[in-house]
Amino acid sequence: MTQRYCLIGSPIDHSPSPRMHNAGFAACGIDAHYVLRPTLPEELHILLEEIEQGDWQGLNVTIPMKLPVAASIKKDELATRAGAVNTIFITHEQEVIGTNTDIEGVGEPLRLRNYSGGDAIIIGAGGAARAAAVALDQLGATIHVVARETNKASAMLMDVNVRKPGKTLALENEPLLGELFSQAKVIIQATPVGRHQERYSLPWQGVAPDAIAFEMLYNVHTPFLQEAAAQGCVTIEGWEMLLFQGMRAFEIWTRHPAPRAAMETALRFGDTHARIEGSDRQ
Ligand code: NAP
Repeated sequence: MTQRYCLIGSPIDHSPSPRMHNAGFAACGIDAHYVLRPTLPEELHILLEEIEQGDWQGLNVTIPMKLPVAASIKKDELATRAGAVNTIFITHEQEVIGTNTDIEGVGEPLRLRNYSGGDAIIIGAGGAARAAAVALDQLGATIHVVARETNKASAMLMDVNVRKPGKTLALENEPLLGELFSQAKVIIQATPVGRHQERYSLPWQGVAPDAIAFEMLYNVHTPFLQEAAAQGCVTIEGWEMLLFQGMRAFEIWTRHPAPRAAMETALRFGDTHARIEGSDRQ
């Protein structure tokens, strides 16, 4: 029987996850299909019933469902630390478990650039920033957090309980931000700023040219990436995070190595065909 996987959240119409996962299943000869299943928090109980009935063999979870799901199902250690679930899997014993593969989505691109510790700055203190903090902690980083409100940055670092907490500061604290930028090995942008070419003023002039600038937004060449590249930094684009979180979910669900080439090609260059559950849109 064809296995069924889906993405839940809203709005999700433009998600590239179906084409990425369906290309992965096809490349591995796995009889499975991945669809979009638009879901709002108030519909979570229906979704949980569907999982109980065996309708889904695995799910990805996006905004605004990551926290409601985390509050409603059993979580592994990664999801507990990140405070959010982005992937659901079902064990051999039929237990429904929430995990967080965004952590791998941040960690793997950094490992591929041979990053293995040193000062790292996270801009933002939301869900994706928390996943980044766990990933950086696993890599041995000293983690500094910059946010609109310092108390949110401090609360985030404390909650994630990182081994080497650094400074927490407000975005407008230019002198301290300049100091941190000049010692940073990695700077991760984990806010929606830049989606429409908005920018905040960041002290790029002091950054080392071999520093890594990691933008989480995908499908857009943000001012953050443009300014980092102009400074000579190594840049990582948001599609890499999407790819590696997806590959990790694929491996958890199928227990099969994820076919990177097929999934990456579909993600970056594939068409946008995606079936939305409950509609005939193709
Ligand atoms: P979130 O939980 O809503 O957190 C958003 C963060 O951005 C908060 O810290 C928020 O600060 C901050 N922020 C919002 N508007 C801002 C502004 N104008 N100036 C400064 N800070 C601002 O969202 P999230 O889930 O962490 O996602 C963050 C970004 O990562 C999104 O753009 C998302 O698309 C992207 N993302 C990408 C991937 C991927 O696979 N590539 C995966 C997950 C997320 P306040 O608390 O002060 O509002």
